[in-house]
Amino acid sequence: MKVLRSFDPWRSRLCTCPPKYSLHPYTGCSHKCLYCYATSYIGTKNSTPKKHFLKKLEADLRSADKGRAVNLSTSSDPYPPIERETMLTRRTIMLLIENSVKILITTKSDILLRDIDLLSKSSSAVMLTITTLSDELSKIIEPGAPPASARLRALKMLADHGIPIGVRVDPIIPFVNDDREDLGRLVEEVVSLGASHIVCSTFKARWDSLRRIERNLGGIGRRIVELYRLTGVKMGGYIYLPEDFRRSILEPVCSKARELGVTYAVCREGLFHEKYFNSPSCDGQHLIR
Ligand code: SF4
Repeated sequence: MKVLRSFDPWRSRLCTCPPKYSLHPYTGCSHKCLYCYATSYIGTKNSTPKKHFLKKLEADLRSADKGRAVNLSTSSDPYPPIERETMLTRRTIMLLIENSVKILITTKSDILLRDIDLLSKSSSAVMLTITTLSDELSKIIEPGAPPASARLRALKMLADHGIPIGVRVDPIIPFVNDDREDLGRLVEEVVSLGASHIVCSTFKARWDSLRRIERNLGGIGRRIVELYRLTGVKMGGYIYLPEDFRRSILEPVCSKARELGVTYAVCREGLFHEKYFNSPSCDGQHLIR
């Protein structure tokens, strides 16, 4: 397989995703999220289309297990600004549909609204990442991605078109977007707009993401770095906060989702109690029709 890969996030024993393929039409990522987990292998450059991508995908699909969903994308967002011109992700989706493959889209961008026509006639679901309701904050922590309000509008439009959709509140970063009440409001808002599944995850740090946070968030950035330096625990190549701390951050999201009657899960937290995990799949695959 050249571009279609079995999803195996760093062989993490904490990953609960059902088997699936991951697929990345682009390398690099123009969204430039401060907390990005992927910069150590996709780099820090803007999104660039992979060479001969569709040809390689066509070849891979000949031997692919068609029962497995394809997740576009688990890193390097499939809808960066350049997608408006290249339409590479659109052409990828067309190829997947021709091959009767189930599609799970994970993105922070409202550019995917352009592809509603394709999504509504395919076996697909969308997981939109929304980390805050504040445009001001989303512009600071995800400077190259569309603001929170654009993602909320996209969520509503996708739901109105009958496309199954969930939201990733990922990551939740201490002192930045972990206010209990704000998180509860965020879940209320996205569920009222049509989200039927919520995934949340605490910020798992690497030294490169901590350095970006420190450079860009001033005093708060320094507090975050200190917190991870003094209390962090190394797990699967990442620095995790202590479990009690993580539970306290995740709980408002999960309890609000439970109260509102939608499915919910945490991502790579090692927490399997139904307080944190009450869903047939964590990544939203169960939404695919
Ligand atoms: S959208 Fe994802 S891959 Fe792109 S910069 Fe943000 S976290 Fe990294």
